Amino acid sequence: MSKIPYRFYLNEDQIPKQWYNVRADMPEQPDPLLNPETGKPLSTQDLYPIFCEELAKQEMDETTRYFDIPDEIQEFYRIFRPSPLIRAYNLEKELGTPAKIYYKFEGNNTSGSHKLNSAVAQAYYAKKQGLTSLTTETGAGQWGTALAMACSYYKLPLTVYMVKVSYEQKPYRKGVMETLGTNIIPSPSNTTNVGRAILESNPDTTGSLGCAISEAVEAAVTTDGCRYVLGSVLNQVLLHQSIIGLETKKAMEILGEYPDIIIGCAGGGSNLGGLISPFMQDKLTGKANPYFIAVEPASCPSLTRGKYAYDFCDTGKVTPLAKMYTLGGDFIPSANHAGGLRYHGMSPILSKLYHDGHLDEARAVEQSSVFEAATIFSRCETILPAPESAHAIRAAIDEALKCKESGEEKTILFGLTGTGYFDMSAYMNFTSGNMSDYVPTDEELQVGFNGLPTVGNS
Ligand SMILES: *Cc1c(COP(=O)(O)O)cnc(C)c1O
Repeated sequence: MSKIPYRFYLNEDQIPKQWYNVRADMPEQPDPLLNPETGKPLSTQDLYPIFCEELAKQEMDETTRYFDIPDEIQEFYRIFRPSPLIRAYNLEKELGTPAKIYYKFEGNNTSGSHKLNSAVAQAYYAKKQGLTSLTTETGAGQWGTALAMACSYYKLPLTVYMVKVSYEQKPYRKGVMETLGTNIIPSPSNTTNVGRAILESNPDTTGSLGCAISEAVEAAVTTDGCRYVLGSVLNQVLLHQSIIGLETKKAMEILGEYPDIIIGCAGGGSNLGGLISPFMQDKLTGKANPYFIAVEPASCPSLTRGKYAYDFCDTGKVTPLAKMYTLGGDFIPSANHAGGLRYHGMSPILSKLYHDGHLDEARAVEQSSVFEAATIFSRCETILPAPESAHAIRAAIDEALKCKESGEEKTILFGLTGTGYFDMSAYMNFTSGNMSDYVPTDEELQVGFNGLPTVGNS
């Protein structure tokens, strides 16, 4: 037996009791949210009709370095955290690499993803404020499931606008949310003005995350005691997800390790932001210099081919404007895209870190190579990864193979965000040789860029 265990768990005394806010250590801040009509920066109070107050404050706070995690949230975290840091001995052996590969596994809860870390926090603050219901959107369904779990725990009624194509293709996800007591509406729907308008102009649309966000926001601001919550992209979500990186850093410290390369998949940026934040602190303060890689689908390439510009966070143009890498709110990935990570934009914090060169690299990968990596991984490590997570696995395998070539014994860390049991039709397409790749052309991307607002971008 090696000294470093296969699975390592922090004990009670070692578990982080605070979240870390990376903005406090950034040399330059992300650009502020703008009011789309006036072009003026928003104040914290401007966000109160959309978000509950505590979360609006977290959203706007650039200076508080550490936030105490309330006891009630820590108690909920104890149900499914700490998550294990796993040494991928079998994968290393399979690849024949001298690299050491570690991954932080966040899939050990029914949502099958890291999203519960923020769902619990958002439901808790809403309950504490005395709100009586919440709305949100979900694409693949992990966020909707995570929030459904948190809302059932706090007895808060929840309505989820579920992207229509997922609603139809993932009936079991829907079934899980219904079991947890959630009201689910396929989006676009005729329950909102923005949904009706989208249906009118495009009756056959299968929906998009941006469109479901518009509907959920409209429902929240027009219902008494109701607010909207979002599972990624926002600063507050990255703050809550810092628990991933804080646990990882502590665990590696105890094991006497430090990563040379840190890899995460990037959809809206929450798991990557959460994983890298405490390591980014080391980089920004000159303590260490790990190499950060964000991995995204070639079919939804916001960091590698998007524009760094102000854009709406939704399709219906009801949200504030955020400065981020974006493909434009009208962008919808091609129909054969199976791997999740389909949001048009990227966390403003990560966008800024990438723009300023602190996040070292963004890499786009095609889905058949992602599923190939997922298959190799599942056979070595006994976990069936979510397709989203498998983007990170792809890059980790590629980095480990580079080490094999060069003989370098690098320490590679990646985030394994979740499990893929609800993605079996995609897995089966891959296994039977029926998976195809699609990379949008520059002309196709231009359509999305043409829809970017002029406010903030002139
Ligand atoms: C939602 C999700 C992602 C992508 O979201 P980020 O905000 O970019 O982290 C990745 N993996 C899983 C399993 C997810 O559910």
